Amino acid sequence: MSFNIAIDGPAGAGKSTIAKKIAAKLSFIYVDTGAMYRAMGLHFLRKGIRPEDSAAIEAAALEADVTIGYENKEQQVYLNGENVTGFLRTEEVGNMASSVSVYPGVRRQLMALQKELAARQDVVMDGRDIGTAVLPQAQLKIYLTASSRVRALRRYQELKARGIDGSLEVIEADIIERDERDMTREISPLCKAEDAVEVDSSEMTIEQVVSTVIDLYRERSR
Ligand code: C5P
Repeated sequence: MSFNIAIDGPAGAGKSTIAKKIAAKLSFIYVDTGAMYRAMGLHFLRKGIRPEDSAAIEAAALEADVTIGYENKEQQVYLNGENVTGFLRTEEVGNMASSVSVYPGVRRQLMALQKELAARQDVVMDGRDIGTAVLPQAQLKIYLTASSRVRALRRYQELKARGIDGSLEVIEADIIERDERDMTREISPLCKAEDAVEVDSSEMTIEQVVSTVIDLYRERSR
C-alpha cells in the first residue's frame, strides 16, 4: 500500500515549499493540488466566464481536462494538453481558483485525479481538503498554519523576488478574504482533520518544519 502524507492549511503557510522538500527527502511524488484548481481558474479566465455564473462554470468545467506530469521532478500542469504551469502563479489566477473551488463540478473532477495519483504511489499532497476529503486514510496528516501577517509577508517577498511590486496590506487583505472563502464554503471547507498534527510555522524556519514532519513520518512508518 502506498504511504500518503497530506498537508493542508491556509494560503501562504508554506505548504508547497515544505511538501516539496519532504517529497525530495523521502523520494515521494509531490502533488500540488492548488495548481490544479489554478489551471481550472485559468480555463475560466480565458473563456471570460465570471465566477458567479455557476451554470457556465459547471458546464465549462466539463470541457477542462486537467492532468499533471513531471519534468526534472517538478510538477507540470496540463490544461487540455497544453502545459500551463507558467501561467498559474498570479494573484488573478489564484483568486479565480479560490472563487471557483466552491463548485461541486470543479471539485469532483479534480478530486478523482488526486485520489487516483495517491492510490498508485507514495505521495506528499498539499491543498485544503486533502486530510479531510481527498485522502482521509492518509497515514500522516499535517495542518500547517502561520499568522496572516507572516503569510502576507512571505507572499510579498516571493513576488518581489520575481520583480513584482505589491502592497503588503493588499496582499494580507487578499489572504484573509481567501481564507474566509476556503473555510466557510459548503463542500470540503478548509479545516484541520481530527487526526492531523497542527504545525504553526510563524516562528519556525523551513528546515525546522521539514524535520518536524520527517520525524513524524519515521514514527508512523515504523
Ligand atoms: O494553494 P493555492 O493558493 O495554489 O490554491 C489556490 C486555490 O485553490 C485556493 O485558494 C483554494 O480555494 C483552492 N484549493 C482548494 N482545494 C485544494 C487546493 C486548492 O479548494 N485542495
